[in-house]
Amino acid sequence: MSSCGGYPLGAEHDPRAPWNQPDPVEVECPDCAGTGYAEEPFAVEVGTGRETPVTHIAWMCLPASEAEALARGQRWFRASREECDTCGGSGRVEVDPRDIEDDGFDELAAEEKYYERKYGGN
Ligand SMILES: [Zn+2]
Repeated sequence: MSSCGGYPLGAEHDPRAPWNQPDPVEVECPDCAGTGYAEEPFAVEVGTGRETPVTHIAWMCLPASEAEALARGQRWFRASREECDTCGGSGRVEVDPRDIEDDGFDELAAEEKYYERKYGGN
């Protein structure tokens, strides 16, 4: 009995088969610019509750709570942040590579049609 690489007989060239689907590619989430959060990072001052914007890196280094900031003798702690809905906090989203190609093609085609209509093609 010959092997067909584990595929059902005759199905290895079926474009709908799961093994013929392109692997999804991960791209930076457009909604949060890859940070994984729905808002700009900010820190809260111990005692006053005053808020100040910080960089993402600085935010990561801050104590996670006021209690932790007090324990560490620090003046600022990081505010809790909402995770981005689009990427669920990972900062990256999976897209079908065919979608990327299709989008580019459709845009170009639409533009050509627009100019055809506008200038009559002659
Ligand atoms: Zn996101």
